[in-house]
Amino acid sequence: MSELSVDHLLGIKYITKEDVDLIFKTADHFKEVINRPIKKVPSLRDITIANLFFENSTRTRLSFELAEKRLSADVVNFSAASSSVKKGETLIDTVNNILSMKVDMVVMRHPNPGAGVFLSQHVNASIVNAGDGAHEHPTQALLDSYSIRERLGEVTGKNIVIVGDILHSRVALSNIFALKLQGANVKVCGPKTLIPKHIEKLGVEVETNLRKALEWCDVANMLRVQNERMDISYFPSTREYVQQFGLTKDILDSLNKEITIMHPGPINRGVEITSEVADSDHAIILDQVQNGVAVRMAVIYLLASKIKQ
Ligand code: ASP
Repeated sequence: MSELSVDHLLGIKYITKEDVDLIFKTADHFKEVINRPIKKVPSLRDITIANLFFENSTRTRLSFELAEKRLSADVVNFSAASSSVKKGETLIDTVNNILSMKVDMVVMRHPNPGAGVFLSQHVNASIVNAGDGAHEHPTQALLDSYSIRERLGEVTGKNIVIVGDILHSRVALSNIFALKLQGANVKVCGPKTLIPKHIEKLGVEVETNLRKALEWCDVANMLRVQNERMDISYFPSTREYVQQFGLTKDILDSLNKEITIMHPGPINRGVEITSEVADSDHAIILDQVQNGVAVRMAVIYLLASKIKQ
């Protein structure tokens, strides 16, 4: 198969294992490109991409912009804070105005779950979801799986635990879909209040004891507590959260095995993970960031080749 089964990347829920394999194969090629002295290919010279960020982002936004520029696409950036959205314009109007300037693809981050799906049904452009509220963050999950595959050889059959605020995390949901699609064994671990009810229906197990989860896993993906999405208190205090779910070097050293540590960023050092662990050889956090560019190049390239047909 040499093309994606979808015209948009709205979530991992909508893609197939073959899509994931194709994205990874294409990312392998782009990873080689971005390690060359000239890190650019002319593939998307005739494509214009708008990055629409209605919610804060540092890493994801820079990563998409670099990916687009390394494919030689024309890029326009938009942030809600400085736009007419503040004057009451609707999402469809905002995007249609941008599209009328001959934009082919929209990369969008939005606080509302489903915003990307909604847009894909109302505007004529290829949509990439760069995070929609607490719903999905598909390129993050793809780069996470790509990084596991790079470190451990494959994702299939590996034991992966996702630790922390599962309830508010789009990274958790997209990772669960992506890891299950590739045949990994997945557990989630965190305070009961931050684990969605019925999550087992997605084929994952729940573990509330961090040590037990770490003893079981090959990879631990440590998530940030999403304070900005919380309207009530989900645990007594940060101190208590750190005691029960913070990953320290002492815990890692007390395990009789090596595990790989991941984090989607931004890290709250000293909360979900200590600096010692984040900066150790166990962690592949900066590999994740580096791989993000190659994986996003692959996604954009593959979607753009469907527009061109
Ligand atoms: N950067 C990730 C996201 O946008 C994770 C996080 O914010 O904690 O969802």
